[in-house]
Amino acid sequence: MMLFDSHCHLSDFKNDDDFESLIEEIRASELRYLMDIGTNLESSRSCVEMAHRYDFCYAAVGFYPSETYDITDADLEELRKLARDPRVVAIGEIGLDYHYEDTDREKQQYWFARQINMAIEEGLPIAIHSREADGDTLRILGECGAFSPERTSRFPKRPDGRPDARVLLHCYSGSAQLARTYQMLGASISLAGPVTFKNARRSVEVAESIDIRNLLIETDAPFLTPVPFRGTRNKPTYVRYTAEKIAEIRGNSYEYVAEQTFINACRFYGIEEPAR
Ligand SMILES: [Zn+2]
Repeated sequence: MMLFDSHCHLSDFKNDDDFESLIEEIRASELRYLMDIGTNLESSRSCVEMAHRYDFCYAAVGFYPSETYDITDADLEELRKLARDPRVVAIGEIGLDYHYEDTDREKQQYWFARQINMAIEEGLPIAIHSREADGDTLRILGECGAFSPERTSRFPKRPDGRPDARVLLHCYSGSAQLARTYQMLGASISLAGPVTFKNARRSVEVAESIDIRNLLIETDAPFLTPVPFRGTRNKPTYVRYTAEKIAEIRGNSYEYVAEQTFINACRFYGIEEPAR
């Protein structure tokens, strides 16, 4: 059995006293791969370093929405250099977050578009953070050409014969209907710990109705700890609780959900599947 945590922040743990034991725990678990995702230049650099240090770790680099407020063209070019590292397999997490009152939506949108363009130029998948910004996220992705035939033709087709846009909506919290729109456009959806929460009606609907070939799983650790550990610090190995919950919702076996989401994540990030 192999699991893939398609989005977490392993670098956030690196100064913890128990970091080495966390690494040992990961090695001893079913977790075969994880994606360490950057939120600014410093964390993106750390992700690249982690991905070189640990064989189970790959990196994504990007500026998180609220980290874009005082970046410059030179910062974006620094990010591009990092993106060309062979262990970097995506641009992320990038996107829009309108949750807080003091957000500068215009800046977020500007740098979101610039980073999408960079991902397209570099031929990399895109990992999206979108919170309370459904309409603008979809619109800007479309305007930048993230779903265009020109881009999707660079990636192998999906198992169902449709084009693959290599766009991932991380910790998806939108409606089942919007998830269907994204699927039609060739995007993938990732579900995290909130699907295990009691009030997770929307996530449950998505887990139920989505084509499993478009579904990835993640922890977003150290955030969003799943039940039964809610209230404590999240960690990448807890991705199994999200897989178990999705299996229960769909009426599939845990093994099936683990395997399918593993295959999907490898395909999405362009990582070769390990021999079993
Ligand atoms: Zn994250």
